[in-house]
Amino acid sequence: MSNVRVRFAPSPTGSTHIGTARTALFNWLYARHTGGTFVLRIEDTDKERNTQEALDELVDGLKWLGLDWDEGPENGGDFGPYFQSQRGDIYKTYLQTLRDSGRAYEKDGAVFFKLEGERYTEYDDYQKAEIEKVKTQPVVIDDLIRGQVTRREERDFVLQRSNGDPSFHFVNVVDDIAMKITHVIRGEDHLSNTSKHVELFNAFGVEPPKYAHLPMILKDPKDGKGKMSKRDKGALISEYKERNFLPGAVRNFIALLGWSPKDDQEVFTIEALVRRFNLDDVQKGGARFDEKKMSHLNFEHMKTLPISEYVESAKPALQKAGLIGESTDEQYLLSTLKICQEKIDSFENLPSFAAYFFSDTFANNEKAENKTMKKGEPIARIQEIAPKLEELSAWDKASIEGVFNRLAAETGLKPFAWFPVVRFAVSGTNSGPDFLPMLEVLGKERVLERLKRTAEKYA
Ligand code: GLU
Repeated sequence: MSNVRVRFAPSPTGSTHIGTARTALFNWLYARHTGGTFVLRIEDTDKERNTQEALDELVDGLKWLGLDWDEGPENGGDFGPYFQSQRGDIYKTYLQTLRDSGRAYEKDGAVFFKLEGERYTEYDDYQKAEIEKVKTQPVVIDDLIRGQVTRREERDFVLQRSNGDPSFHFVNVVDDIAMKITHVIRGEDHLSNTSKHVELFNAFGVEPPKYAHLPMILKDPKDGKGKMSKRDKGALISEYKERNFLPGAVRNFIALLGWSPKDDQEVFTIEALVRRFNLDDVQKGGARFDEKKMSHLNFEHMKTLPISEYVESAKPALQKAGLIGESTDEQYLLSTLKICQEKIDSFENLPSFAAYFFSDTFANNEKAENKTMKKGEPIARIQEIAPKLEELSAWDKASIEGVFNRLAAETGLKPFAWFPVVRFAVSGTNSGPDFLPMLEVLGKERVLERLKRTAEKYA
């Protein structure tokens, strides 16, 4: 094990956002890549905004994405408790240390951090008052992604509010010290806090961790410009679950929000991500959200999923659409999905794509109907083929193909003369899985019944 210790430190205040999941994933990948430790720390000091639902959703989301943690809620560890709401005594001790060294003072009931440097007052237009400022030394942050960032704090800031609650900056740094965090990987929105944090590390006489601030996530161009918001499509992790995206594909997609390997490979298994991930290849500029890429990756992951996993992943969508239930034959389901797997890019679209395998009352596609079912000839084709199919004793691809070939030889037509009309009759459309495997899977009884029904309807 390496000495790398990283933490994901969410505040469970609402639905889990894709940016939050990305911070978790990048920390996790960094820990797994380096053989370090991944800590989950819950920053639940905001009593009014924290909720149990948000925490549950967060934990479920991490698990769904396949992320586990070495220390944290459920698992414990040597540096607990892992909920900030349970660490009050630790914060008191650390606050006392700063008071003892003269770096904290009380004013109006709150406790402030005391910056070092010459003090002066200045009129502040915004606050319409004289305020005290400090000529501090600039803080230089060697950010692993952004390079050198220089910022200067010039006003003392709150460590403990007058109601006794410690501030975010204070507990965040105390915990990073107490939990021996070596790398802080978090969103760019925290860059502006980092100079405060470094000031605090220095006051405690502790070397600050290495920082890596991840680029912000930008809207899908079709949703407008600027930073992605919680209201944009694709912003919430729950949405991906509901839409039956594969967690492996979502994880792959999130990994590419700001990171890409030099060779621009896009499709990654979890093992490959762990092997290839590194902070050097994280970009500085905003990471563009792209829904099309999500669909593409989902398709790629769906194609290579072992069939048994594919069946399990497909079930929720089919159940939700009422197409399968307890009485569905597992073998039939498996054969059906086997021939659909290569053809469809999302489980969300599976019910409409495959409805006719599970129900006799599927809707006809109007375009396909107009194209295929002109009066006269199509019905003649059905009347020619149906009795021959009926004579078959073995119902497999090769035997079915033989029927079409023999009829073609007898009539001088191509076998394709029958395909579209038969396909339409059994499925109500003109595209789908490969033709002969589709007939084989549907089975003789369904096929003949549907041919008969169609011949009557269009006669
Ligand atoms: N609780 C903070 C957040 O959710 C954590 C910031 C950090 O990672 O240091 O944004």
